[in-house]
Amino acid sequence: MGVAERIEWLRGQLPTAVRLVAVTKQVPVERIREAYACGLRDFGESRIQEVQQKIPQLTDLQGVSWHLIGSLQRNKARPALEVFDWIHSVDSLPLAERLASLMGSVGRRPRLLLQVKLAADPTKSGWSQVELEAALPRLAALPQLDIRGLTAIAPLGLGEQGNLTLFGRVAALARDLGRRAGEAEWQHIRMEELSMGMSGDYPQAIAAGATMVRLGQVLFGSRLPLRRNGDE
Ligand SMILES: *Cc1c(COP(=O)(O)O)cnc(C)c1O
Repeated sequence: MGVAERIEWLRGQLPTAVRLVAVTKQVPVERIREAYACGLRDFGESRIQEVQQKIPQLTDLQGVSWHLIGSLQRNKARPALEVFDWIHSVDSLPLAERLASLMGSVGRRPRLLLQVKLAADPTKSGWSQVELEAALPRLAALPQLDIRGLTAIAPLGLGEQGNLTLFGRVAALARDLGRRAGEAEWQHIRMEELSMGMSGDYPQAIAAGATMVRLGQVLFGSRLPLRRNGDE
C-alpha cells in the first residue's frame, strides 16, 4: 500500500472529529508532499533541527500546521515557538515559564498541550497527576500561554485493556482540570484537546476520547530503529 491508500484506509477508521497528525520524523519531504496531496495538513516532528531543514523545502504548501511531539529542552524553546503551531510536549513548570517569558518577543502563540505521565515509563517525561494539580495555580498565572489540553504516550506493553484504562484516566484528568479552569475563569487553560494514540494503540485512544492521534508508521511504514533514548 502506498501513502495514499493508507491515508484512505485510516480515514475510514477515524471519527471525522479526530485530527490526524501525520508523524513525519525520518520521512523525506517527497512523502510529506504525497500526504499533503491526500489532504493531510497536520504534521508532527520530534526534532527541531529536522523540521528546520524541511520547512524551507515545503514553503509552497499552504495551510500546514507543524506539531512538536518530541521532548523540548528549555534552551530550544525559542526556535520551537518560531516554527511550531502546536507543542504537544510541555512537561514541566520551568518549561512552561520559559515559553511564557519568550512569547512576547517571538510574536507567535502556538497552542500548547501538557504532557502527562500517568503510568511509569522511564523513557518518557511528563507530569504526574499530583504534579499537574499542584502546578495548576502557577500555570494559571501565565496567561501568555495558550493551553489547549493534554498529551499522553502509553508505555509499551500495557496491552489493549491497559491502554484503554490509561487513556481513560487521562481523559478524566482533562475533564477535572477543565472544570477547575472553567470555574476559576482561567481563559488560557482549556482542556478541549487530548493528543493520544500512536500506530500501536490509536483505536483505544479514540475509544477513550482522543481528539488528535499521532500516527507515523501506520502511514509511512516502519522507521529505521533509532537509539532508544526516549527522543525518537
Ligand atoms: C514517533 C512518535 C509517534 C508516532 O509513532 P508511530 O508508532 O510511528 O505511530 C507519536 N508520538 C510520539 C511522541 C512519537 O515520538
